Amino acid sequence: MGNWKMHGNQAANAVLLDGLCAGVTAVPNCDVAVCVPFPYLGQANASLQGSGISWGAQDVSKHEQGAYTGEVAPAMLADFGCTWVLTGHSERRAMHGETDQLVADKAAAALNAGLTPVVCVGETLDEQEAGRTQDVISRQLAPVLALGAPLLARIVLAYEPVWAIGTGRTATPDQAQEVHAFIRAQLAELGVPQVRILYGGSVKASNAASLFAMPDIDGALVGGASLMAEEFLRIAAA
Ligand code: PEP
Repeated sequence: MGNWKMHGNQAANAVLLDGLCAGVTAVPNCDVAVCVPFPYLGQANASLQGSGISWGAQDVSKHEQGAYTGEVAPAMLADFGCTWVLTGHSERRAMHGETDQLVADKAAAALNAGLTPVVCVGETLDEQEAGRTQDVISRQLAPVLALGAPLLARIVLAYEPVWAIGTGRTATPDQAQEVHAFIRAQLAELGVPQVRILYGGSVKASNAASLFAMPDIDGALVGGASLMAEEFLRIAAA
């Protein structure tokens, strides 16, 4: 899954989306998706029809509709053919004050509209160095796990250590696997071990295969490298 973040314009997007459509047939065994900025949902909806590539947004309101200026409702995303929406990306947690509960509320609202939320969790460098990774992940996950097994079975999780996002510093496959296994164990306790867990943080074509070889890493959430069709598709093929 690509996360374009706040990048793109209609002309550049057209080149990227066309490149993805042209190349995706060569990666038949992978679910490929892009999460685009809100203004380009219509462009994604039009360009990706019939391509096998699905699309989504990078955030969503927890409210269904109403006087929430600047917010985008889950049903609006569904109206543009979205399958996915990111919730709780670390940039939203850090720069927009999103709490663990708000992230879970957004995930619940997305599910209610028939979307699949991709709930992001991950620790900062300070937290990692203090040996607090599992505590932080547990705290972030708690309100999400409280949604209960039937809803959890319909979400995707993404483990994205903050220190690895956009830094070029990827978690080693063993480091990532350890956290994914920790998350998987919590899901298994609730009877939903099959929930997909993506890894995110400076994933590139050159490191994707070693990450995907780990038993609990089911795919990747890719930022920078998703802006180049060829590189992104090489990750998907890894
Ligand atoms: C992200 O934005 O979710 C991400 C993982 O970014 P990058 O791949 O650029 O580190």
